[in-house]
Amino acid sequence: MLSRFDIQKLQDLPIEQVAEALQIRVSRHKAICPFHDDTRPSLTFNLRRNRFRCFVCDTSGSTIDLVMKSQGWTFCDSCRWLARQFGVVLSEALGCFEERALRQQVRKAGKQLPPPPIDVHYLEGLTASPVLTEEARRFLFDERRIAPEVVRLAGLSSLSEPMPMSGNPGGPWFNAPSLLIPYRDADGRLQSVQARYLGKKEDTPRFQFPRGSVCSIFNLPVLKTLAEGEPLWITEGVTDCLAMLSSGRKAIAIPSATLLKPQDIEPIRSRLKAQGTRLHMVPDNDAPGARLFLQLQKLLPTLEHHLLPSGYKDFGEYWKSTCTERSGDLNDKC
Ligand SMILES: [Zn+2]
Repeated sequence: MLSRFDIQKLQDLPIEQVAEALQIRVSRHKAICPFHDDTRPSLTFNLRRNRFRCFVCDTSGSTIDLVMKSQGWTFCDSCRWLARQFGVVLSEALGCFEERALRQQVRKAGKQLPPPPIDVHYLEGLTASPVLTEEARRFLFDERRIAPEVVRLAGLSSLSEPMPMSGNPGGPWFNAPSLLIPYRDADGRLQSVQARYLGKKEDTPRFQFPRGSVCSIFNLPVLKTLAEGEPLWITEGVTDCLAMLSSGRKAIAIPSATLLKPQDIEPIRSRLKAQGTRLHMVPDNDAPGARLFLQLQKLLPTLEHHLLPSGYKDFGEYWKSTCTERSGDLNDKC
């Protein structure tokens, strides 16, 4: 939540500069009104009161109103945009600055730093309404043949515009367009959210995690749904996991082999043993895939190896081609 003090700071931004930032050309404190079909400048700016008003359509308001009304954004989104455009540090971000100072002190003293906290509350809100953009639908349903039910259960959503990774708009932002992938613990509590970039810019990283994310295994809540003796499939990466789930198998995804730590596996190992779960894996058809299998087998000795039919790079590719063959038509259901 923004404090009254934060809102005041944003309302005190020079109204004409805010208009210019919104591509409204201001000349002699007037502009073409964006709220009605204007031909001569009817929008006026009152610098003393720092407000705008159109003397034809009577639309008026503050800096925040100008952003909301001209862009059709919510109050919060308009405030975030203003803060970002004008480099305003909101007091809700103060904690971050205090923390940064503390971290510098700790670093100088040569101590180990704890990871910064993840803004779980904010991330819950960001992923609460699972809207899929055109890019996300194309990626999931056309390119990967992921079942809509799997997407719904995994709680995937997407971004068409960049968004902050926390409630602090001065901190790092998720790139867009991107898919938002929630990571939850075995009890369903949100740990973090990963963004998978779906755009075409080559210098943009494909994956982003907020700093301090500790989660590393995707789809842990599936463990609770396993019947006794039911097989669990281990995949490398989220998209292969979604393909495996679409094929009707229960699956979790581990990150790349280099990121996997024994302590990531430990909490699930005892659980799997108690449930009598058999573990299966279809490693990628390459050297890193083989290495990852061996590495995992050391941690999970009962892990069973399955070979991909030759000609396929990974399970995702195999799923895409076999599910298309089987279903004949190219609908979402495979
Ligand atoms: Zn007007």
